[in-house]
Amino acid sequence: MEKEERDLPWWKKEGLIVAGGWHPLTGRIRSGGQPEDLEEQYEWEYTEQHISRLKELGITLLVGQFDRGLGETDQAEDQERAKKQAQLCHQYGIHHGCYLANTVYFESMLKDHPECEDWVVKTYDGRFVHYGGEQSWRWVACFNSPGWRSRMKKEIKKAVLEVKTDLLHFDNLGVWPEPDSCHCHYCQEAFRRFLQKKYPDTASQKKRFGFTGFDTFRAPNFYLRFIQPWDLERFQSPLLQEWLLFRCWTVTDYIREMSQYARSLNPKIAIDCNGQSIRGVNQALLHGTDHVRQTYWVDIVWEENPDFRQEDDPRRIYPVTHKFRGMNLFRRLGKPVITSYHDEETLAFNLTFSGHPGINTLWGYAEPGKKPLNQPQEGVTELLNFYRRHLLLYTTAQPAAKTAVWRSRLSLAFVSTWTHLSACVLEQILFHHRWPFSIIEDDQLTAKNLQCYKLLILPDCEFISDAQIEIITDFVKNGGSLLFTERTGEYNCLGRKRTDFAFRHLLEEQACFSSSELTETTSFDSHRQSKVIFRSGQLVFAAYEKGRVVYLPSLQYVHPPGTFHSHYNVHYNGIDSRYWKEPYNVSEVLEAIQWLWKDEPDFQIFAFQEVRVDFLQWDDGFLGLSLLRCGPLSEAVRIPLAVKSEHQPQQGICLTPENVEGISLSWKKKSARCWETILPEIYRHGLIRWKPVSGNNS
Ligand SMILES: [Zn+2]
Repeated sequence: MEKEERDLPWWKKEGLIVAGGWHPLTGRIRSGGQPEDLEEQYEWEYTEQHISRLKELGITLLVGQFDRGLGETDQAEDQERAKKQAQLCHQYGIHHGCYLANTVYFESMLKDHPECEDWVVKTYDGRFVHYGGEQSWRWVACFNSPGWRSRMKKEIKKAVLEVKTDLLHFDNLGVWPEPDSCHCHYCQEAFRRFLQKKYPDTASQKKRFGFTGFDTFRAPNFYLRFIQPWDLERFQSPLLQEWLLFRCWTVTDYIREMSQYARSLNPKIAIDCNGQSIRGVNQALLHGTDHVRQTYWVDIVWEENPDFRQEDDPRRIYPVTHKFRGMNLFRRLGKPVITSYHDEETLAFNLTFSGHPGINTLWGYAEPGKKPLNQPQEGVTELLNFYRRHLLLYTTAQPAAKTAVWRSRLSLAFVSTWTHLSACVLEQILFHHRWPFSIIEDDQLTAKNLQCYKLLILPDCEFISDAQIEIITDFVKNGGSLLFTERTGEYNCLGRKRTDFAFRHLLEEQACFSSSELTETTSFDSHRQSKVIFRSGQLVFAAYEKGRVVYLPSLQYVHPPGTFHSHYNVHYNGIDSRYWKEPYNVSEVLEAIQWLWKDEPDFQIFAFQEVRVDFLQWDDGFLGLSLLRCGPLSEAVRIPLAVKSEHQPQQGICLTPENVEGISLSWKKKSARCWETILPEIYRHGLIRWKPVSGNNS
């Protein structure tokens, strides 16, 4: 363990216990509404008193201001402050991070760089794009502009070599929603190159676009005559589809180049990015987000999902857990998620699902001032102490789930609500019923990667390539189980509607296929001449070679898309947390999973509906659970747990903040391969570990 620990990066050795302060003075002044003593509060952030206080609080990383996008002259004073702050942090054994905004304060930038108009987004009709809200002084950068990329490299070089920072925080890592996409000549050229690379020969060009050559192609605009971009539920036009994917490529290529450059200066620099987590909205459309591919280039993901919608509906998700999807996806990839917490419950959530505490808003966020002097909230100190005591268990845990939910990249980019609804609702069912699962994306849908799963779930994945069908077929052939729903496989990866049901071969004679139809509309349709009519059918169960398959043609959603206005970026709708309710036919889903599983579950927790868990494994052969009880609690409870093991599990232990040494678990045989225990005295949070024993080891 010791040797392995030496090889871990610092954020896994020390945990991400984060403090903030990334808005520079200018940013605070310009956003307005600041206190009279702003300058004094701000200066305090650069004092030894501040940094020693952070040390006292156990902070391991301070993300400070560095580059807001002002010109060098106006930013010089604050960048000196950043340097001084990094030195102080290092004196106190705290890591320092530099914030990079990816925006341009043009009034300042124009003074040093009159050419900076060439670095920013120019829309179809020649507008500059402002950041949003009242911030009209802030332009949005064009990630394809060579001038912008070279300007960012200069800033990165200063941060890494002069400030000697330990981490780069890329905020606003995304492009802006339509109709504010960039149509500058760099983007136009890059789009043509993108198409040429993807469709290099005349046959593929003709197949996709009807004729050959891209020299005359231009980026599409979203001033559509009959419809606003936020009302487009589905993207059918090949040009628009490619444009969405091009925007994702743009963001990916930008972070790739910035990350490679930073690491060429210091291979140990840590990099995090903000915007790549999963929220339930079509982020490929809104921000060019490709969750997995963009995070290949970073070490840590920042999560700022603001979806704390208040609801009285008893079927609602516990508000504390609404960020579980990003943590689920990135834990599988070994990338921690940093997010905020504001009390003991939200901190316990972060520990349970991310393995890192994140940032306490009581001690400040972007503009802390003297907030770090606040006393911690009730229970927070105890939880942080507990975390530090068992730190490596948290930071080296890997997911042990053997069920994968595939979030199909094309389906979620081309269909803005229905596919998102299906994915969100199926994930919600699994999460609620404590059925362990991992979210995967296209790059993880490989024969090799699928070997760690027993069950694969395809939530309304409309767009599937022939190669993907083959991989999934082989998975089932070799004994895997498959659950697919709704319109899965209706289109190929070029957006062509398949003439036959994609998985007909898996369902053999038992298939009762009924699906959607494309029909010409008889009434005048404002933007297209056809519509999809969906007809629900019956559940199909089938065996195929060594595997099993269930097709679930419909989920009876509590709220279909369009029930609420989500107001993402003001206009856009999405599948916000109000939609994530279990469907009326949830029992069909659960029964399908039980039949598909063919085996005892890896573990079962009984009775308490407020309990949420993550199923984990460690390199020492242990399995375990990190556990959270949601909502207001009055007392500790005892929780029955059953685990799968051929012989009595070894060294079962339950660790809680109330009992940091841990309590050994005693096991009772429940059935041939299942052992039961009672978890003692669980209040808010706990870590449970056991070592399963197979027949050969006895
Ligand atoms: Zn551009």
